[in-house]
This record gives sequence, structure tokens and C-alpha cells, in this order.
Amino acid sequence: MRKSRVSSEPAARPVVVWLRNDLRLRDNPALAAAAASARPVIPLYILDDGPSAGRALAGAARWWLHHRLIALAASFDALGTGVGPAPRLLLRSGRAVDVLQDLIASTGAARIFCNRTYDPLVDAADAALETALRPAGVAFERCAGGMLAEPDALLAGGGGPFRIFTPFWNRLQRLEPTAPLSAPRALPGYGAPVAGERIEAWGLLPRTGWDAQFARLWLPGERGAAARLRAFLRGQSADYRGTRDFPALEGTSRLSPHLRFGEIRVRQVWHAFLRGPAGGRIELTGAGFLRELWQTGWLRNRLRMIVGSFLVKDLLIAWQHGEAWFWDTLVDADRANNALNWQWVSGCGVDAAPYFRIFNPVAQSRRFDPDGAYLRKWIPELRALAAPLIHEPWTAAAGMLAAAGISLGESYPRPIILHSEARKRALAVFEAMRRRA
Ligand SMILES: Cc1cc2nc3c(=O)[nH]c(=O)nc-3n(C[C@H](O)[C@H](O)[C@H](O)COP(=O)(O)OP(=O)(O)OC[C@H]3O[C@@H](n4cnc5c(N)ncnc54)[C@H](O)[C@@H]3O)c2cc1C
Repeated sequence: MRKSRVSSEPAARPVVVWLRNDLRLRDNPALAAAAASARPVIPLYILDDGPSAGRALAGAARWWLHHRLIALAASFDALGTGVGPAPRLLLRSGRAVDVLQDLIASTGAARIFCNRTYDPLVDAADAALETALRPAGVAFERCAGGMLAEPDALLAGGGGPFRIFTPFWNRLQRLEPTAPLSAPRALPGYGAPVAGERIEAWGLLPRTGWDAQFARLWLPGERGAAARLRAFLRGQSADYRGTRDFPALEGTSRLSPHLRFGEIRVRQVWHAFLRGPAGGRIELTGAGFLRELWQTGWLRNRLRMIVGSFLVKDLLIAWQHGEAWFWDTLVDADRANNALNWQWVSGCGVDAAPYFRIFNPVAQSRRFDPDGAYLRKWIPELRALAAPLIHEPWTAAAGMLAAAGISLGESYPRPIILHSEARKRALAVFEAMRRRA
């Protein structure tokens, strides 16, 4: 992208780029549109924990946001043109409509650019915002910025959304996504002082030290996302189908928090795949749990499914409780992905697993962690127990447990429920629900 020149129009009214789930400089249509306006740019992030903004971010995702915003501010600082001020990332909290109106009043901002989020609640809030800004003559411009294709560009034969995956997938593969946009090399900033907030004042980091290991595992931001993608394309992607379910192996990309915060866009991933060593032949479709989740803020999909099935089907606890726990503990916590996957696991919702599909945790453990390497890593109390007993230590003979230094009920808990009984109970409950329906 070429250097933008600052407009010579009266007092060079700035434009605002309101960043939301698109915290990146590369392939960011709203930022590119702001750069093309040739006006001073005010990049803005609003922390809005109110209901109109969707659901307030919780624990692990707030940790991520904290670090991402610090890195993003530095990236904007580096975009200065050399002749005027650099574009400074402005942090504000409160209702978006109030923040934006205040900013327009104090700076005379002429246009607000943002990318669409595809969240129905946010869409409704955006429509209201557009109406609220109209009297001031400020244009609110939403760009298509997140998806591989806009949802209404991919419709089934009858004109509605696809309801079956395979035809959707076939149609998607015929699509030629346009090339990703480069990051602006320089942007004119807005010179006059604008009141912003300090990120430290937002208190986004956990107070308990729970995040002690996060920084070792994650690098929030575009650099971290690009490194994950490169590593995935070089290594794990070749046998994604064969390794993705095995928790002791890397197997999957771990891109989810980067995608969730929009540090990398699906279109960039798609292009990297097509250009990568696999030449586009990789099948994207092929594309201790609670301790790992707690310590790293992440779990691979299979473990999320097993945990979910155990909570909802073995323990008969409503999926909303599991969803809320994940919302707090996942760095990739995403409203749609989290809720719909919990509904899938529970056998309810638009796209659900059959209610009678109940994961057997021991069988899953034996199948996907045959040597117990994953269990040993996250449950060191069981380290000395050999497979297959490590998958169900409560069945081991007393002598074996003693030799392994395990005391059931003390150093390692007894099972809170036996799966064989829990399964029968769940099937009876679901069957009764089905008859009542
Ligand atoms: C109960 C439950 C809750 C979940 N909650 C979330 C959540 O809050 N946020 C979230 O991003 N994902 C969620 N998932 C989906 C999935 O587990 C994660 O996206 C995946 O584990 C991320 O790891 P990865 O990036 O290595 O995935 P990869 O296997 O490398 O896949 C690449 C990308 O594809 C997308 N993806 C992969 N699997 C799924 C899926 N099942 N559903 C939706 N997108 C998928 C993700 O964006 C992921 O980053 C949930 C799954 C379950 C069963």
C-alpha cells in the first residue's frame, strides 16, 4: 500500500477506525478504507462490557486482549509517516454510541470505519448506531472483513442458507477468494490531543496469577498468528486427520485465539494453504483436560467434546454451566463457536450430535492417548502407573497402586460416577424427554 497523503480539506477532519474482533493491520478492509481516505486516522478500541455489545469477554480472553492491545498500539506507533504524528491507538471504555459521539464532538471526525462482526446482536447495535450518527452527518461504514465469503454470497439452490454441509463445502471450494490486503506501510495520525484511557486501568489481567503460564505458550498478535500458521503448514497439517485427536501430539494449528480476535483472517489462512507445500490438497474438512484448560487457556476439540459429553450426559448438568466455564477459561472464547459446540455435544440446537451418542471417557483415553503420555503430563500423580491401567486407576490392584505411590481418595480421587451406569441413566432421561416432546 502506498503512503497516504493528508487531505488539505478544512482542518483535515480525521476518520476513525473502530477495531473490534479484527485486531490486525494486514488484510483489514476497514483500516485500508481509512488509509485510502487520505485523512488523519484515529484507530480506536472500545471496551464495552454492556449488553448491546454482545457478551462481555471473560477471564482468559481478557488476558489475551490486554496483551494484544499493547502490541497493536506499538504497531500503530510504527506506522508514522515521518512528517506528522503517528496514528495512536485510542482506548476508551463505555457504550460504543456514547464513545463515538463524544469522539466526533471533540475531533470533528467525518467517518467511522469498522468491519462487520456477523453477530446478530452487534449487527442490531450497528444499525442503531448508524441511525444515531446520521444527524451529525457522520458516515458509519461497515466493511466485509471477516469471512472467506459474505454469508449472502453462498446460498443454496432455493436462495436460503445451506442446511447440509457437503453441498456448502462443494460450493465454497468453487469460490475464488480475493487476495489478502497488505498492511499500510504508513498512516497519518491525528495531531490534536484526544482523551484516552490506560490499559492498566482496565484491569484485564487475572488477579490470582492463574495466567502464569499463558505467556510461555501464546504470543497474542499478528506475529504469533503468522508463526503458528507457518509451523502448522510446515508440520502438523500434513497428517491433520491422523493426529488432530491425539492430545499428546501437536496435531492441530492452535490458531483459534488468533482467529477469534481477528489477528489473522480466514482468507489469509486459505491463501497460505493454497500456496503452501501441500498445494491446496490438504483436506480442511478433516479440519488432566481441565488442568490443561486452566493452565493454558486452550483444549483441542476432541477433549472439549469429551468434557462436554461427561458434564451434560454423564453428570446431567445443563450445558450452559459448561459453556460459562469455557467462556471464562478459553483464550479463544467465542460466542457462536462456544455455544453451538456445547449444543452439539448436548444433542440440542440447530446442528447437534444424536442424543444417544455418549462418549466413553475411558475408551476415548485408551484410543487417543494409548500410552498415557498426555495423562502423565497433566496428572503427574499417575505418572508411575503403566498403560492401560493409567486410564482407569480405580481398577488397579491395591499393590499396584501402592507401588505407583497412589492412594485412591487421597493422592488421586475416586471416580465420582461410573460411566456404564451414567450412560444408562442419561439414555433413560433422554428417552423420557423424547416421549414427552
Ligand atoms: C464444547 C466446545 C466448545 C468450543 N468452544 C470454542 C470457542 O469458544 N471458540 C473457538 O474458537 N472454538 C471453540 N470450539 C471449537 C474447537 O474446539 C476449537 O476451535 C479448536 O479446538 C481450536 O483449535 P485449533 O485452532 O488448533 O483448531 P484446528 O483444528 O487447527 O482448526 C483450525 C480452525 O478451525 C476452526 N474450528 C476447528 N474446529 C472447530 C469447531 N468444532 N467449531 C468451530 N470452529 C472450529 C477454529 O477457528 C480453528 O482455529 C469448541 C468446541 C467444543 C466441542
